[in-house]
Amino acid sequence: MKVLVPVKRVIDFNIKPRVKADGSGVETAGVKMSMNPFDEIAVEEAVRLKEKGVATEIVAVSIGVQQAQDTLRTALAMGADRAILVLTDVAVEPLGVAKLLKALVAKESPELVILGKQAIDDDMNATGQMLAGLLGWPQGTFASRIEIADGRAAVTREIDGGLETLSLALPAIVTADLRLNEPRYASLPNIMKARKKPLETLVPGDLGVDVTPRLATLSVAEPPPRKEGIKVASAAELVARLRNEAKVI
Ligand code: AMP
Repeated sequence: MKVLVPVKRVIDFNIKPRVKADGSGVETAGVKMSMNPFDEIAVEEAVRLKEKGVATEIVAVSIGVQQAQDTLRTALAMGADRAILVLTDVAVEPLGVAKLLKALVAKESPELVILGKQAIDDDMNATGQMLAGLLGWPQGTFASRIEIADGRAAVTREIDGGLETLSLALPAIVTADLRLNEPRYASLPNIMKARKKPLETLVPGDLGVDVTPRLATLSVAEPPPRKEGIKVASAAELVARLRNEAKVI
């Protein structure tokens, strides 16, 4: 079973993003970039499926600038077999990413695509769902457990009331939630080995996809600073302050 894992290069989750001086977006120049954390979980799950003998090949895909190669090398060091970079300077929106992935699915014929549930830069939480819609494949989003057997994927997902398990006919789309697994660190020998693994570069035109954005960002601003909070001594004081100072009750 071939598994496709899309991985996005985003600002490292430890870094506090800064808005560009002209308010046109978030500053990425000179900022540490890493693999989207949910995508690390997706890669880890694919590697575990391979270790169990369920998956036979893992193909990591990234859509982005040349430096997204580093993100792909990380996926290769974690255990992916080969990588595809779809090179573009455009900040491709989820629908564009889903269209590119659909074209890659046609080219690669995976039986499972594991994405992150969301990319932590734009928090869109849309690409997996759009890809499932475009392909007409079943989807299991926010997976906290995946079991593959008899041509089906049992996907356990965290929902408001508890846990739900879906049985999806393969091929299928799964998106990874935080509790699916704990991703491994790539070891130095595996980082060295990853340098020799195949990495193919395409451009959106090779896949027949127009990635021109459909949304325009009007402005990006820092959230207003929060006022310092206070401690109250009693419920009565809280009510009095809410009534007389905050004037909210
Ligand atoms: P989003 O819908 O943007 O929150 O992203 C959800 C998931 O789609 C991510 O966790 C990735 O697995 C995948 N994805 C989104 N954008 C890209 C990209 N530019 N390259 C590769 N994968 C992506």
